[in-house]
Amino acid sequence: MATIFNKIIDREIPADIVYETDTVIAFKDVNPVASTHILIIPKKNIPTLNDINIKDTQVLAELLLVTTKIAKQMNVDKEGYRIVINCNKNAGQTVYHLHLHLIGGRKLNWPPG
Ligand code: AMP
Repeated sequence: MATIFNKIIDREIPADIVYETDTVIAFKDVNPVASTHILIIPKKNIPTLNDINIKDTQVLAELLLVTTKIAKQMNVDKEGYRIVINCNKNAGQTVYHLHLHLIGGRKLNWPPG
């Protein structure tokens, strides 16, 4: 099912895009929880982490590689950052298109709430 993130991929709604390849795209979260809060998503429709399969290995690796590139680009790589994937309702997933949150720029609490 198409989500708001498909509209960002298709340029139907605006987003502050920070990185893009043929298979992934990254943009600033509209409601940031830290000074750096980027969403990294596959262009392919994968609703949740539960829906990945072996064919997605390459794109999943690319999501992580792109995340590390953006962390450097945003200058949070040395101080540190967190990657979050919310899966389904108990984790608070609100957009059913797989996405990694890259969160940094401040001290992050552990355990998360
Ligand atoms: P999650 O709760 O893990 O599903 O995260 C969804 C994230 O998408 C939230 O942090 C929202 O702030 C963010 N979000 C929703 N709509 C947009 C949008 N149009 N542009 C950028 N970020 C968005």
